[in-house]
Amino acid sequence: MLTENYDLVYQNVVDAAKKAGRNPDEVTLIAVSKTKPVSMLQEIYDHGCRHFGENKVQELVEKYEVLPKDIKWHMIGHLQRNKVKYIVDKVFLIHSVDSVRLAEEIDKQAAKKQVICNILVEVNVANEATKFGLMVDEVVSMVEEISKFPNIRIKGLMTIAPYVVDSEENRSIFHNLKQLSVDIMQKNIDNVTMDVLSMGMTGDYEVATEEGATLVRVGTGIFGERDYSKASV
Ligand SMILES: *Cc1c(COP(=O)(O)O)cnc(C)c1O
Repeated sequence: MLTENYDLVYQNVVDAAKKAGRNPDEVTLIAVSKTKPVSMLQEIYDHGCRHFGENKVQELVEKYEVLPKDIKWHMIGHLQRNKVKYIVDKVFLIHSVDSVRLAEEIDKQAAKKQVICNILVEVNVANEATKFGLMVDEVVSMVEEISKFPNIRIKGLMTIAPYVVDSEENRSIFHNLKQLSVDIMQKNIDNVTMDVLSMGMTGDYEVATEEGATLVRVGTGIFGERDYSKASV
């Protein structure tokens, strides 16, 4: 079941990329494994999956400890400053940086661990009051400020689109995030590249891929519905 789901989602990503005239190799599928037991992660790891996304620090660390060390862990959830120290040397990419204060803490902890931390800046493109992330008009100045931290590299942008029934409704959001990344790239800011666009979830990853996603974050479509009443590990 699990590996079939993974293959199906992966094939859909490939098809969406081709449909848009993109090279499918530009798009990486992140298996969003929050709330799911390590046995399930191990199963798709054995099937070839190397990118996993988690949204809670403790859960990420627990899974990191027991699973193979070549997994690339993506921190995709809201990150509290006091927890940065637990993950800064374990994650491949932090998707959810939305303040200078958080970036400052990441820089400090990365320096302590002698690593360079790769991050994305989270943008609330849809302007939803309930969501984290920067407003579009705040992004450029924030990127400029964060780019000054020596132990951080800004690799691109991330957004969480609203839940919609028809994924076409989110197309303009993905299009706008892509456009914003192009605008920022053209500013040639030191320590900043805009090669990574993290957008698209189970309901809309195909549209996101068509609009330029390089990372799609799919949970339910691979692992099935989440049951928050059960322990995670
Ligand atoms: C949970 C989560 C996902 C995956 O959501 P699905 O709809 O289950 O694919 C993607 N991105 C973020 C930030 C998440 O928290």
